[in-house]
Amino acid sequence: MTQSTSPDSRAPVNVVLIGPPGSGKGTQAVRLAERYRIPHISTGEILRGAVRAGTNLGRQVADTLAKGSLVGDDLMTDLVRARLVEPDTSAGFVLDGFPRTVAQASALDAMLGRAVMMVILIDVADAEIVCRMGTRRVCDACRLTQSVADAFHPDTEPCPYCGGNLKRRPDDEPDTVRHRLATYSEYATPVIEHYRPRATFAVVDGVQHADKVAVVVAAHIERLRL
Ligand code: ADP
Repeated sequence: MTQSTSPDSRAPVNVVLIGPPGSGKGTQAVRLAERYRIPHISTGEILRGAVRAGTNLGRQVADTLAKGSLVGDDLMTDLVRARLVEPDTSAGFVLDGFPRTVAQASALDAMLGRAVMMVILIDVADAEIVCRMGTRRVCDACRLTQSVADAFHPDTEPCPYCGGNLKRRPDDEPDTVRHRLATYSEYATPVIEHYRPRATFAVVDGVQHADKVAVVVAAHIERLRL
């Protein structure tokens, strides 16, 4: 058998993105998913989807999400474990929103065993985040996250891509954002320290154009895949 050099024959691209809410981690996750044809697994999106659909899971987590607090480790770990055995993860995955605690990080280590996992921290200061969240909206039809001109943008403007309604996410309300940032720094620091000693860990400056962030993120992944 001849050895193929196609990207598919290389090791899976298992990526964990870490970053504060509003760091652009979701945007980067979508790009990585397209580039490597791997699923973007956003635990926040899975949970919000469950709330919208009114499933058992949705009813269980609705209050926690609305407050911007963390859902329990066991529930989250079971959810991710079930997702990572789906066949579409065979070429890898981009995890966005998980792990958020050291317990979740350890559970993920156990799930992956010896498989390589690349961890990328998208670094953005709090003041920049507060600015960004004020102008963040999500289309209720195509679900695309977008930035509007100012924080007081009316909820009646249509989505420029599909004509749907641009809405502020309930957890992007300023008080909830402050709570989410506080929760993030409390929980993310030990998770970052869990990964920092690893050769597969990288910090990327998130305060630059999304295209530039994407180039740096991809360069890190390519270096590790050599
Ligand atoms: P953010 O935009 O704040 O990064 P996400 O979209 O990742 O938020 O998640 C939204 C909400 O879903 C969180 O505030 C939290 O309530 C819940 N959540 C998502 N992932 C996790 C997780 N790994 N552990 C606990 N709670 C989670």
